[in-house]
This record gives sequence, structure tokens and C-alpha cells, in this order.
Amino acid sequence: TLSDRLTTVLQGLRGKGRLSDADIDATAREIRVALLEADVALPVVRGFIAKVKERAKGAEVHQALNPAQQVVKIVNEELVNVLGGETRRLNLAKNPPSVIMLAGLQGAGKTTLAGKLARWLKGQGHTPLLVAADLQRPNAVTQLQVVGERAGVPVFAPEPGNGVGNPVEVSRRGIEEAKAKQHDIVLVDTAGRLGVDEEMMKQAIDIRAAVDPDEVLFVVDAMVGQDAINTATAFRDGVGFTGVVLTKLDGDARGGAALSVREVTGQPILFASNGEKLEDFDVFHPDRMASRILGMGDVLTLIEQAEQHFDQAQAEKAAAKLHTGQLTLEDFLEQMLAIRKMGPIANLLGMLPGAGQMKDQLGMLDEKHLDRIQAIIRGMTPAERDDPKIINGSRRLRIANGSGVKVSDVNDLVNRFFEARKMMASMAGRMGFGGGGGGKG
Ligand code: GDP
Ligand code: MG
Repeated sequence: TLSDRLTTVLQGLRGKGRLSDADIDATAREIRVALLEADVALPVVRGFIAKVKERAKGAEVHQALNPAQQVVKIVNEELVNVLGGETRRLNLAKNPPSVIMLAGLQGAGKTTLAGKLARWLKGQGHTPLLVAADLQRPNAVTQLQVVGERAGVPVFAPEPGNGVGNPVEVSRRGIEEAKAKQHDIVLVDTAGRLGVDEEMMKQAIDIRAAVDPDEVLFVVDAMVGQDAINTATAFRDGVGFTGVVLTKLDGDARGGAALSVREVTGQPILFASNGEKLEDFDVFHPDRMASRILGMGDVLTLIEQAEQHFDQAQAEKAAAKLHTGQLTLEDFLEQMLAIRKMGPIANLLGMLPGAGQMKDQLGMLDEKHLDRIQAIIRGMTPAERDDPKIINGSRRLRIANGSGVKVSDVNDLVNRFFEARKMMASMAGRMGFGGGGGGKG
């Protein structure tokens, strides 16, 4: 991947005291190849390399105590610049409702994003309304309704005599509805085609004219590489847009679209989508993306997600119990569910420096294994979860049958739980923790 390549290139610099111009040229060449192979658009690569070289040959590196580190810093800073510099927030209207229109090719992830954005906005205290203006595909409206229900956000959909068949009319009525029902943000989901065509572009232009949006977000699948750039250019020149959303960043993307789209279209990336679930979504932070590309991990995102999903009181209660050896399987299950709410374990690990490479070796972090543990604990009665010591042979058999695993799996879990609990308690004892909670470290 791009991240691996860049990490290797930059590691090659370490250990060198002074850097000659030849060293810098060689490094720049390798970075150039890595970027091109990651499908970054050529003009973007050229501009990037020129800036890195210019800075790397300048005073800031010559005078640095550690020139290699200084080059890494420069590459990181220039990556941040290419990705847009500052985090760009949504522009909202002074007089609600704000209107956000989504545009992009079919399959880009617009409808999914509509749900993610709606959920996220709702979490921030907004009262969004989703408007189903994709009347192209037969089930597009239903799909938005499903997504809206999951997000807990109402959907305005065409009904007989209410704009059926006319996406512009539906959009307009959607805005009326939002005004009447005091929604402060309207999200307009529009239709796409598999390729850019005039009719689709005209429909998007007409909707834009009708709803006068505060933001038009161009939604683009990051997996499609160079093609994303052509599509982006067509949309920029057609309907026009004020921001970009990258989707499917969880996939096998080579990273090229993320690095190109801002420079090529001149519009910032606002959000990133990285999975099919509604919570697989985040504000796009150029600095974090850059450090992820450089293999430095994304500890900041992890911390934010943890804060969002962890119940501090619950965590402290569990920590206190842990220190006194009273942790139960019920507590363990609660904690596991809290962690898993943050997203797939593999995604979480990808954010930690170094952990990305380790995750395959760490078999215990396999989702299937976690599912099994969850199933086993759920198959226990409250009394068993509370005091696993009572789980005798016949109980083990019942639990195994009930949760569809082998008795040895149940044994394994229970034994490991006891061991872990004992170890934690003795560790806590040695470190002088009381039972008094406040276990933040
Ligand atoms: P639309 O045609 O632009 O509205 O695209 P959809 O929202 O219907 O998404 C098309 C497909 O991509 C669906 O199967 C989604 O589940 C999937 N999808 C959307 N966003 C993501 C994402 O960030 N990651 C992954 N892996 N799949 C996604
Ligand atoms: Mg759709």
C-alpha cells in the first residue's frame, strides 16, 4: 500500500546524518513512484514532489539536528496541504433550514451517506430531514426510508399527488416540509447514473436551482482511483459542488483519490465514509489522513471514537471491580460490546501505529472469535455471568448447546476469564490500587 511504501522510503533515510542533494533526489524519486502507483493524479504528484524537494534541499533540513526526521515532517506537512490543510466544517445557513444536496454516480454511496450524515447531525443536536429525490431506481426511496429509520431521522418521500416522478418537485416540497415541521437541516438524496450523462447532470442542476443548497456534496467512491478524478471534474463543471465526501475508504483503495480530488477540483473533502454501517463515518481531517498515509496511525480518531462510545461511569465501575477481583462476565460482555460499537476491530487496529501490521497475527482479534465469545456469555444465565464458579459440567453443556459452540470453547472462555481476573487483581494489588474507582490510566 501507499502507506507501506512511504514508510519504507522514509525509513531508508534514518541513520543518515547529513543528507546530500543526491539523497534527497533519490528519496523524492521513490516517493513519486509510490504516489503514481497509488493512482494519484500526475499533476498532483508533480506539484507535491517539487515542493518536497525544494523544502528538503533548503535551510530547514540543512540546519536540522536530525535531517531525516525533518524530511519526514516536510512530507507530512505537504501531504496535509494536498489534502486541504485545515478541517473544513459544514456551512450552515443563518436562517434554517440549511440545505445539503448530495450528488454523485450511482453506487458511490450517496444514500448510505445520507443516513450517516443524518445520524451524525442528529447526534450533534440537529433535527435533520431526509428528502428522497432519487426517483430513478425503483427501490431508491425505500432504501432511503430504511436508512432513515436506522438513523432515527424522518424521510420525506413522494406520495401519489405529491410530486411523484418529479425529483425537482419532490425536493422543493421537501424543503417546504422542513420549514413547516421546523427541521433545521435538509439532506437531499439525488439519483446517479453509472456514468456521467447529460440527463443526469441536468436533473442535478435543476434540483440545485430549485433548492438553492448551502452545500452540494460530491460523493465519490475512493476505490475507483483515477476515474474518480474524471467524474469529479465532470460534476464540478456540471452541477458544481462545494465539498467532497470520500466513501469506501475501508476498501482496498490505493489512496490516490483522496490525495488528488482536493487539488484537482479545488474543493475540500468534508467527510469520509469507511464501511456499510451508519457509524462508519467521520469528519475528514487532513492532518489525520496524512499521518495515516505515513503510517503514523490515527490515534486522535481512536481517542475521539472511544470518548463517543464509552460510558465513563460504567468504565470506572468496571475498573474498580477489576482491581478487587470482582469483575464478572457480565461486565466483560458490556465492555466488549462498548469496544465493538466503535466499529470493526480491524478498523480500530488500523488506526494504531504498528498495529495494522500485527492484526493478522493476533488471532484473538478476529471478529468471528469475538462473536463466539459474545454468544457464549449471552448463553449464560445472569447468575452464571455473575459468578462463573457455579458453571459445572451440565451447565457447560447447556451453554455450549445454546450458543452453538463446543463445550471446550466454553471451558476455554471460563478458564481464561478466571486467569485474567486473577492476574489483573494481583497486578492492581501490586500497583497499589484501591477499590475506589477513578481508574483512568
Ligand atoms: P448511491 O447509489 O450513491 O446512493 O449508493 P448507495 O448508498 O446505495 O451505496 C452503494 C453500495 O455501496 C451499497 O451496497 C452500500 O452498502 C455500499 N457502501 C456505501 N458506502 C460504503 C462505504 O463507505 N464502505 C463500503 N464498504 N461500502 C459502502
Ligand atoms: Mg442512492
